[in-house]
Amino acid sequence: MARYTGPVCRLCRREDMKLFLKGDRCYTDKCGFERRAYAPGQHGAARKRKASNYGEQLREKQKVKRIYGVAERQFRGYYYKASRLKGVTGENLLVLLERRLDNIVYRLGFTADHAQGRQLVRHGHFTVNGKRVNIPSYLVRAGDVVAVSEKSKKLKTIEESLTGVDRRGVPQWLELDKEKFTGRIKAMPSREDFTLPIREQLIVELYSK
Ligand code: SF4
Repeated sequence: MARYTGPVCRLCRREDMKLFLKGDRCYTDKCGFERRAYAPGQHGAARKRKASNYGEQLREKQKVKRIYGVAERQFRGYYYKASRLKGVTGENLLVLLERRLDNIVYRLGFTADHAQGRQLVRHGHFTVNGKRVNIPSYLVRAGDVVAVSEKSKKLKTIEESLTGVDRRGVPQWLELDKEKFTGRIKAMPSREDFTLPIREQLIVELYSK
């Protein structure tokens, strides 16, 4: 299925939590979820059905897919990859998603949200260890250095995004050098680094049926 390009605030309202898909707007009182914290649609405010087990698992999977902007097929691929790695499958899944280059440039503050991260990576604005990489799903490793390419340092979008980085914060497993437009992956993230309420075990249950 094609990537979702519709209004993103309704995705937060559907998942009943803020997914931070709209850059700095998510931190203002213009946030769609802050203003209307109920499901989208004509009957969204009135109807609150109790979800079945399957429903809960499905919502959890959709939530994570939407946070990282990954399509179903690719997401399933991450699950299989995670299940073959050592350790807890659910945690492996989150770490794999977090290692995506489009996520890293967002976490470092070079872009305001994941969608923008994906687009700017696609357009070749970043390098990894000095080499241009334009694949949003590229998986970084500990010790890698991600940088804005020389020509792209003047890009207004990146400059503007960096001004909001203090508000959004950089995770402790990453190190940002704002002056040099570079970031280093100090270590792989651990489960404690995921601040959003995610019950990854439900996703594992869904896929292992
Ligand atoms: Fe979600 Fe951000 Fe829209 Fe708020 S502003 S509903 S956090 S995408």
